[in-house]
Amino acid sequence: MEQIPLWSPKPAPAVRSSIPLLSKSRFLAGLQCHKRLYFECYRSVPRDPVPPATEALFEAGARVGILARGLFAGGVRIESPEADLETTAVMNQPGKRPIYEAAFNHDNIRVRVDILAPAGDGEWDLVEVKSSAGYKEEYLPDIGIQLHVLEGAGVPIRRACLVHVNNQYLYEGGDYDLERLFAVRDLTAQARDAIPKLLPQLEAMRSPLWSWEPPQISVGSHCKRPYLCPFYTHCHTDRPEYPLEHLPRMNQKLQRALREAAIDDIRDIPEDFEGLTDLHKRIRASVITGRVHSDPELRQKLRELRYPIHFLDFETCNPALPRFIGTHPFQQVPFQWSDHVLGEDGSLEHRGYLHVEDTDPRPPLVESLVRALGSEGPIVVYSGFEERIIRSLADDLEVWREDLLKIVESRIVDLLELIRSHYYHPDFRGSFSIKDVLPALIEDLDYDGLQIQEGSQAATAFIEMMDPETSRSRRLELEDALRAYCNRDTEAMVRLFQKLREDG
Ligand code: SF4
Repeated sequence: MEQIPLWSPKPAPAVRSSIPLLSKSRFLAGLQCHKRLYFECYRSVPRDPVPPATEALFEAGARVGILARGLFAGGVRIESPEADLETTAVMNQPGKRPIYEAAFNHDNIRVRVDILAPAGDGEWDLVEVKSSAGYKEEYLPDIGIQLHVLEGAGVPIRRACLVHVNNQYLYEGGDYDLERLFAVRDLTAQARDAIPKLLPQLEAMRSPLWSWEPPQISVGSHCKRPYLCPFYTHCHTDRPEYPLEHLPRMNQKLQRALREAAIDDIRDIPEDFEGLTDLHKRIRASVITGRVHSDPELRQKLRELRYPIHFLDFETCNPALPRFIGTHPFQQVPFQWSDHVLGEDGSLEHRGYLHVEDTDPRPPLVESLVRALGSEGPIVVYSGFEERIIRSLADDLEVWREDLLKIVESRIVDLLELIRSHYYHPDFRGSFSIKDVLPALIEDLDYDGLQIQEGSQAATAFIEMMDPETSRSRRLELEDALRAYCNRDTEAMVRLFQKLREDG
């Protein structure tokens, strides 16, 4: 006979009894995706680890923020745990001063304002600092929500401004000229116009937070735009073997059409589906058949190259705050090159240059490069990046201009473009990056085990190496890591070239 329980567990309430306060960063996360906001608030799933290069960018951004305070000098930084009380106290002091990290709450949103600057007549300027070279559309909700909170909290705002780095500024040495290093953009009108659209979005993002379950939201292009979501890995496990993200450069119309057709695996796309590019069709055919797509033209083009064949790669850094005289913010400054030279008899010679002094790398780097490349042989690169760097060096270093232009005008061969136009392997997973192409084609060469595994890490390593605080032993370690990484890039190109020329 069935037992009837004398008591039953208390059912969980249908919804939570409260939801967390939203900070500005949570609000921006919610604009990207309500599920991301849910995870941010309840920490129910693990975040992806922050890559070291991204951490370095955050640190560089923080340095820009601190430097920008110099435009509004003599201010007070809000540091106490009771930040909004301290902000109010400082605002009420006689003799108004700029306030850094001013804190406000209104409408259950908490914001910290980079700089709140007195504007006279009891008014204030709200200043948001970005370590970027200009305005981006994602900055408007960021500034708009701050304006909403400040005005809601009773702060009279004269202007809402963006301060960004001026990439036209030419560094002449010594202290930065802050008035020229930074540009100020008045976004008051645009931010005010944005607020009525932001408030319904704010309400819409709060509603799923009452639930015990995260909202059902499919992955899509929003997972990387405007920022790479920190829960990317969590949401992208259990994905189809060939997800739609593996189709490069899909436009929004095509994405929408595929979504409406409930297709999430490339293999399910009908052959005549409208909007597919030739590349998409090639990828689709390759993953369906499991076979490599290779135009005979590729092999022919590679076989036409005359020896000696150079394989060239640069490593560069592009700091927001220029480090070397005669450079601009965010300018790509090469500090290393690697060149493998393949002879007709199959011989392979390697040369390279790594700048290890805290001086402008460009003059010695160019001198060594021009000498190494000589005047003979095609120069195989992977992407248009090397050509852009050589052209920019030609603009900056008049004395080497002619030699550098001769190199790019007749000798550069872009292996990436050749592969993209003529070749696809199902294991490329939609990417033509050398880091993805190499393991699909060459089994015994990879980047595993290298201390540096991508260009942004190399840039970070170089900046660390230049830092006078870095110990000698650490510097030597970084030198070795940089050499190993750049050499691997050109060695990888040689192996890809040989493979595609023989089997292509
Ligand atoms: S990975 Fe995509 S779907 Fe998942 S939380 Fe992030 S943005 Fe939303």
